[in-house]
Amino acid sequence: MIRVAQCWDDGVATDIRLTEIFRKHNAKATFNLCPGIMEDETVMPHWFEPTYRGWSHRGFSGGRVGKKDLTKVYGGFKIASHCMKHETVGRVSLEEFIRGAVDARKILEDTFGMECPGFAWPCGATSDDSVKALRDAGFRYGRTTVNVSGDASRCEDPLRLAANCHFLAPDFWMKFDEVKKTGGVFYFWGHSYEMMDCDGLWKQLEGKIAAISEDPEVQWIDVIDIVS
Ligand SMILES: [Zn+2]
Repeated sequence: MIRVAQCWDDGVATDIRLTEIFRKHNAKATFNLCPGIMEDETVMPHWFEPTYRGWSHRGFSGGRVGKKDLTKVYGGFKIASHCMKHETVGRVSLEEFIRGAVDARKILEDTFGMECPGFAWPCGATSDDSVKALRDAGFRYGRTTVNVSGDASRCEDPLRLAANCHFLAPDFWMKFDEVKKTGGVFYFWGHSYEMMDCDGLWKQLEGKIAAISEDPEVQWIDVIDIVS
C-alpha cells in the first residue's frame, strides 16, 4: 500500500476544471493560494493578445479564482498559504515575506473555516532565516520545488518538504513505481494553467488521476498527512 499526495499552486481559474476532475475520481488535493492577488470576481482563463508583453505561460493566462467563488471551487479540498502576493524569499525582506505568509493563512482560515497550517514556498525559494521564521510562526510544512526519489515522507525538515516530481515530469510513473517498491508516500505538484486549454494535456492528467484512484494498492492522502 502506498499513499499519494498532490498540491497545486497559485489559485488560477483553470483549477475549476481541475477540481471537477478530482471530485469525479475522489482524489484528495491541497491548493496553495495567494489571497492578496484575487479580485472579487473570477477571471476566466484566456489567451493574451499576440503583442502582450507581461508574464504568461506560452501566451496563456490561467485567470484567477475570485474571492466570491473560493469556497465553491475549493470546497472539500485542503488549502495552504502561498503568501498574500506570492512574496518570494530573496526578492522581499524577511519581514515582508513572513507577513505575507501569515496574513494569507489568516484570511484563508477565515474564508474556509478550517486550519491552514501548510505552506508552499513561492518560486521554491527558501533561506535558513525564512525557514526558521516560518516554523516560529507555527507553520507545519513548507513545500519546496526540490525533487526527491523514493518515499517523500522521509524528509529531514518538513519546512523544506520536497515532492517527488512535477505532474508533467517525463519520469512521473518511474518515480511512482519506485515508491511502490519501497512503500511510503508519492507526492507530486503543479500549476493547472500549464495544461492551458489543451484537451490532450487535460485528458492525460485525468488519466493519471483515474489510474491512481483505481489502483487498489494506493490511498490518497493530504499533504499535511505527510508530516503528521
Ligand atoms: Zn506560485
